[in-house]
Amino acid sequence: MAAQLIKGGEISKQIREEITKEIAELKEKDGLTPGLATILVGEDPGSKVYVGQKEKACNKLGIYSERTDIPADTSEADLLDMVKKFNNDPKIHGILVQLPLPKHIDASKVIYEIEPDKDVDCFHPVNVGKLMIGTGRFLPCTPHGIVELLRRSNITTEGKHVVMVGRSNIVGKPMANLMLQPFPGGNATVTICHTGTKDLATYTKMADILIVAVGHPKTITADMVKEGVVVIDVGVNRIGKTEEGKAILAGDVDFEAVQEKAAAITPVPGGVGPMTITMLMKNTIVAAKASLAG
Ligand code: NAP
Repeated sequence: MAAQLIKGGEISKQIREEITKEIAELKEKDGLTPGLATILVGEDPGSKVYVGQKEKACNKLGIYSERTDIPADTSEADLLDMVKKFNNDPKIHGILVQLPLPKHIDASKVIYEIEPDKDVDCFHPVNVGKLMIGTGRFLPCTPHGIVELLRRSNITTEGKHVVMVGRSNIVGKPMANLMLQPFPGGNATVTICHTGTKDLATYTKMADILIVAVGHPKTITADMVKEGVVVIDVGVNRIGKTEEGKAILAGDVDFEAVQEKAAAITPVPGGVGPMTITMLMKNTIVAAKASLAG
């Protein structure tokens, strides 16, 4: 039987409707408009698209957005000054510096400079540490999006074996961490796999919930999963172009074959992707609300 499709587009739309109400309430009751500053360094086409999507989402939802595009040869010191300026700007509740940065800029220095209360990406070590001990104000956007996808699809994680393939700081590690926390939406037994894992299939076959973020198409094939598994495919791989020149996207999982065995699966595109920016908007509201408390 074909798997249940976990439709990120629909779930994201649902959350954006909730967010719209939250923003209207904030404006009406507290006279506060959440604000997000985005900084794009250079001309990377992918980064331009992402920043554009974030700006568009802000405009649609009624979040004040301030976008700064600066040339690729901007000095590290100038970028740090820009971050400091937004740290001190009361209209701005969230700061996002689009990664990757040009090679001459130390990305970790820039991330450290962002005021943790405005770190809506949840990359600052203070927020990463809080996430680890379970006291975080922000949750990182892509992993948080996955928690919501599962929750709103009525897929419980409690007591399940979650196998995370990939250990990046952006997806794999925080995702595994969230699944581990003793809260609803977590409380799972977690295994993390990476390129040092011997015989990956031994572990993926044990998964009740398999989350894959490796960045290579068809890393997970049907023989690597058990019947009834729930599969969350984070990968976004450009595998070609349509006749019109549009990128053809694929995930990290052999979707066609794996969906025959899975109970539920996210498609690519239309699964995890739409959730990430939505959760960024959510974090901006969380930051704005926290600013009211001083
Ligand atoms: P990354 O930083 O390149 O990390 C990839 C991870 O996968 C690494 O930990 C690597 O292991 C592991 N890995 C690679 N090949 C493997 C294999 N054959 N077996 C086991 N582990 C393997 O990538 P990322 O930032 O996490 O992103 C992963 C994918 O998700 C990319 O396609 C990216 O575009 C996509 N993504 C999507 C969203 C979204 O919103 N939809 C957000 C973020 C990322 P080592 O650590 O040992 O090298």
